[in-house]
Amino acid sequence: LWEQILVRLKEKLSRPTFETWIQNATIENLNSESLTLLAPNVFVMNHLQKHYLDTIGDVITEILGKPLEIRLTSEHGENLPFAADRADLLLEENRFNNYAKSPLKPIQLNPKYTFYRFVVGPTNRMVHAASLAVAESPGRDFNPLFLCGGVGLGKTHLMQAIGHYHLEINPDARVFYVSTEQFTNDLIAAIRNDRIQSFREHYRTADILLVDDIQFIEGKEYTQEEFFHTFNTLHEAGKQVVLASDRPPHQIPKLQERLSSRFSMGLIADVQVPDLETRMAILQKKAEYENVRLPKEAIEYIASQYTSNIRELEGALIRAIAYISISGLSMTVENVAAVLNPKVEQITASPDTILDVAVEILNVSLEDLKSNSRRREISRARQIAMYLMRQHTDLSLPRIGDKFGGKDHTTVIYSCDKISKQLRKDRALNQTISLLSDRINFVTRQQN
Ligand code: ADP
Ligand code: MG
Repeated sequence: LWEQILVRLKEKLSRPTFETWIQNATIENLNSESLTLLAPNVFVMNHLQKHYLDTIGDVITEILGKPLEIRLTSEHGENLPFAADRADLLLEENRFNNYAKSPLKPIQLNPKYTFYRFVVGPTNRMVHAASLAVAESPGRDFNPLFLCGGVGLGKTHLMQAIGHYHLEINPDARVFYVSTEQFTNDLIAAIRNDRIQSFREHYRTADILLVDDIQFIEGKEYTQEEFFHTFNTLHEAGKQVVLASDRPPHQIPKLQERLSSRFSMGLIADVQVPDLETRMAILQKKAEYENVRLPKEAIEYIASQYTSNIRELEGALIRAIAYISISGLSMTVENVAAVLNPKVEQITASPDTILDVAVEILNVSLEDLKSNSRRREISRARQIAMYLMRQHTDLSLPRIGDKFGGKDHTTVIYSCDKISKQLRKDRALNQTISLLSDRINFVTRQQN
């Protein structure tokens, strides 16, 4: 299996990536639920965890037709932070040989990430107000401003909005936006080229320093050391520091205590998941910028499907707009739903295959499916399996009932209706059904 996985990964990733990170990992343990990979050291393990877990997961799903939980372990235990950081420096070195020759990059703010384009709702009012205050009077109220919250909720947007806004009222201000990765890379380049002095001058003369994804400083002793001094210099001079992270300072592992306490000195502001109305307003605004008119129902449909990540929410809108404008269809809820939840082709399968796949993937036994148990997970799995049998076979309702230990046909109707209704609202269920359908198709093809 690992061989197969490696072949697919090799196709998907660039050669240096593959050779540096993937090639030397081996399988430690494999069972029907999970795959444990053994990395040659902690650093590689962390890097795999951070950057390639999803890709590996996708490849496994492609090959097996279902996902496995992936666990990572490493050969040399946990106690290597500093050595790992050295490895970090060395490994990154090649990539930045060229970069190092150019002077430090000027600020690059995304022109779209302004306050004007940021939609304020009940869950982000506070963090918006704090950001605005900082943009108006940097260094005065909240220093540092520490923005934290889940992926795709607008941390980067807000942080850059601070930069834009301040540059508008004070065009000569030195506003630097940098990702933690970039800061590390600049540092590496500076060390390599004996330019640490100019590195320090650069970062320590900022009026506003915006550092994104600071959680990635975890375990990087070298970077932490340098950033500690940068931070202190700026803070003492009354210059503003804004940090963004996917979690609060004390939850960043392997972060030096002195940094963690400095990060907590100002205001820690949560960026939270926006409610339905705000999500709708975000879509509305986005659609206006794209010059598209959408009926309210379509907007509501998308906003109700994508609840926890604005980037995905926007992505869905763009997909819907793109597809519908190409195909010439109109923007109805049905068309939008069809674009966003493409139905997996459902080939005719045998009832036994469907039961087998349900057992395999839904974590129930065949007896459970045929039983009269009303336990939630079991009756849910039974409803899903009935729905799939309706989709994948020509069996009549009573015959489907027979396959489930002799249930009445009204039970079958009720189950199928219930699942169909939920499918319109529940993305996770959509994904489960697609996964099962995929698997049923796959197994059926193998049989023929
Ligand atoms: P994060 O840095 O928290 O992962 P981003 O700042 O990159 O998230 O935001 C993801 C996308 O969502 C961006 O395109 C951003 O413009 C958009 N976005 C997030 N929150 C809002 C909001 N309240 N109003 C408008 N757009 C938003
Ligand atoms: Mg971000």
